[in-house]
Amino acid sequence: MNNLMTKEVWFITGSQDLYGPETLKQVAIDSQKIAASLSKSKSISQKVIFKPVLTSPSSITRICTEANSSEKCIGLIAWMHTFSPAKMWIEGLSLLNKPLLHFHTQLNRDIPWDTIDMNFMNLNQSAHGDREFGFIGTRMRLNRKVVVGHYLDTETIERIAVWIRAAAAFNDAQGMKVARFGDNMREVAVTEGNKVSAQLKMGYSVYGYGIGDLVKEVNKVSESGIKKLLTDYASDYSITKSVAASETLKEAARIELGMESFLKKGDFKAFTTTFEDLHGMRQLPGLAVQRLMAKGYGFGAEGDWKTAATVRSMKVMAEGLKGGTSFMEDYTYHLDPKNMSVLGAHMLEICPSIAMGKPSVQVHQLSIGGKEDPARLVFKTAPANAINVSVIDLGNRFRMIVNEVEVIKCPDMPKLPVASVLWKPMPDLKTGAAAWILAGGAHHTGFSTAIKAEYLEDFAGMTGIEYVHIGREFNLSDFRKELRWNELYYHLSGGIA
Ligand code: MN
Repeated sequence: MNNLMTKEVWFITGSQDLYGPETLKQVAIDSQKIAASLSKSKSISQKVIFKPVLTSPSSITRICTEANSSEKCIGLIAWMHTFSPAKMWIEGLSLLNKPLLHFHTQLNRDIPWDTIDMNFMNLNQSAHGDREFGFIGTRMRLNRKVVVGHYLDTETIERIAVWIRAAAAFNDAQGMKVARFGDNMREVAVTEGNKVSAQLKMGYSVYGYGIGDLVKEVNKVSESGIKKLLTDYASDYSITKSVAASETLKEAARIELGMESFLKKGDFKAFTTTFEDLHGMRQLPGLAVQRLMAKGYGFGAEGDWKTAATVRSMKVMAEGLKGGTSFMEDYTYHLDPKNMSVLGAHMLEICPSIAMGKPSVQVHQLSIGGKEDPARLVFKTAPANAINVSVIDLGNRFRMIVNEVEVIKCPDMPKLPVASVLWKPMPDLKTGAAAWILAGGAHHTGFSTAIKAEYLEDFAGMTGIEYVHIGREFNLSDFRKELRWNELYYHLSGGIA
């Protein structure tokens, strides 16, 4: 995965001809300065490109349609340096299909008390110019992010940086292909969903394959490829001599190479497996899935394509940031009142990007799936703030549920042969889990120590799906009302598309 600085965000400035050429020249100079400053900022992960100042309906419509058709452009940042009558924006904004951020800023941070005159007032009008633009956004019911603050303020830049990463993930999701090996785990409800609706909203498409298609690719793997990969394992992980020399590990390497080849050939960004459909496979893919996740692939177990796509999008948002992102499952509880927490894990498939220290490769029996003992990476995760994210299909819409959690130190568990994470859900386990369950959140999640809830809120806004947040400041009774009100809102606002 290598998406950093490969895309563009266009910086557009609204004005009007009324001010005359001198003022408009200054507006352009100031906008260029802000765009260049954002582009240079270390926390901004894509190029910010200045576009000529917009003073007429036709120029606005043109830039919006250009943005739509540009492969590089992942979103627009709009700023009204002066007043820009907003009826001029209606046609362009109606056509725009890229994410929009409204940056409510000003070139000068301070009012120059001693020199301020009417010329200054005429030029620096965003305090009211941006309100006119805000009205038309609201009147048109546009999903957009509004960021307020001086363009050099670190906290303000961070709000924009988050949105740009979410826009990169949204862009990545358009046309994303998810490979689904086998179908859904039989009788499981939450991993199901309407794939046509998902494509309409999120942009990704799910491609189903029989496991035999993958087995064919696995069987083509060369012995020399396996040998080389085994040396990678030896350098990346701690590993005993007997495991290193085992047929099991050789088979795991074969599965990894076959899977990766299949995913590369088909240009897939995410995939699912299911232990109920392994015909022709000797092991449930564990190590292979873990390592492919670490390379940037999204993953969902038991046919969970929604979580697979979500994990991929989260990985795009998190690229280059400290911390990691993985497929996850709430597994078992520690209900000691002094330290109520959740042990997160899966049968095998947790991404080593969240590992603390060097993972170890181990081979153990797996009672589910009825295959040979699979190889897997075993590790723990260091204490950190993190999030769990679930996307569910409510029939008339998708809902994204985000829970802030705090990863805590985990006692030794000498007999647990899988990777695991111990966390406290916010605001506390009793409230957080009750809220999660009332919201219908799945047992599978995308888990990340690299990104915060705000990234997902921005992403959900771009897709138009419902977003609910269970954080540190939280009131369960208000949350229940929010869920009920949202039922009404999404019913009235046109359902799922
Ligand atoms: Mn599962």
